[in-house]
Amino acid sequence: MERTFAMIKPDGVRRGLTGKIIQRLEDKGFKIVALKKMRISFDLAEEHYGEHKEKPFFKPLVEFITSGPVVAMVLEGPGVIAELRKMMGATNPADALPGTIRGDFATTIDENVIHGSANEADAEREIALFFRPEEFVS
Ligand code: GDP
Repeated sequence: MERTFAMIKPDGVRRGLTGKIIQRLEDKGFKIVALKKMRISFDLAEEHYGEHKEKPFFKPLVEFITSGPVVAMVLEGPGVIAELRKMMGATNPADALPGTIRGDFATTIDENVIHGSANEADAEREIALFFRPEEFVS
């Protein structure tokens, strides 16, 4: 069964959107097989967003993602990687359609509420980065 990594970012947690977002994921039928509220360390943030290291927004991105607790989870379900991306909406909330999480809950690209792995390789890498095998419950 396919798995992906999802994370409610510090803005989503701060604004009290955790329940609403998890509700959507459960309503869709995805199974949460691991879940934790945590503070991301600077090193973990740099590794997680490593592909953006050379981009001008890298430093603010790392500062933002380490600015408060996040809710990290692993979701399981058929086609969950692509389906979660659809439910999240475009990276820039200005382009995200109503009905998507970013379309409904976010206004700026810097604080866009949720992260979801982009593809299978990223999902595998990010799950291993955030969770140990004993943290999974089925
Ligand atoms: P995602 O997979 O949709 O989250 O998008 P990316 O992996 O490409 O980027 C990671 C995060 O970096 C995004 O969610 C944004 O918060 C941020 N980001 C991406 N592109 C830009 C940009 O052009 N400007 C700024 N300020 N932030 C960006």
